[in-house]
Amino acid sequence: MDRYTYDCNYCGVEYIPKRRKVQKYCSNSCRVNAFNQRKKEQRGLSKPENTEQRVKETDQVDGMPGKDKMTWAGVGNAAAGTLAINLATSLLTKEENKPATKGDIQRLLKEGMPKFILIKNIPPRSDGFRAYFDTTQQILIYKI
Ligand SMILES: [Zn+2]
Repeated sequence: MDRYTYDCNYCGVEYIPKRRKVQKYCSNSCRVNAFNQRKKEQRGLSKPENTEQRVKETDQVDGMPGKDKMTWAGVGNAAAGTLAINLATSLLTKEENKPATKGDIQRLLKEGMPKFILIKNIPPRSDGFRAYFDTTQQILIYKI
């Protein structure tokens, strides 16, 4: 009786570790993903000053300003889409205290996203308004 299972620190899947005590993730890709996520979080804390400067410089260049703007708008749209998925994932995670599986997200998409999703980890404002995620406009709004 030597079948201990571990929960993957990244995706939460139960697995049988090959090396007990030292293994924290079910697979190499989860280990790498967790590492990258930690790196990204650390980078998020420091201000991306270089990027801001780069944007200003490209805006001032008279060459092809339209083209540059298109590119940055595209980045913004992609980020908004990612935000929506991340948000759905984190909402499910909060509820069940474990990472959302693909099945959870598929179920959510099938049943249809509610128009507004209460964001539980943003405390109510002093006037009692609460933060909601508007799933059609993909923005954060405050309402009662
Ligand atoms: Zn995993």
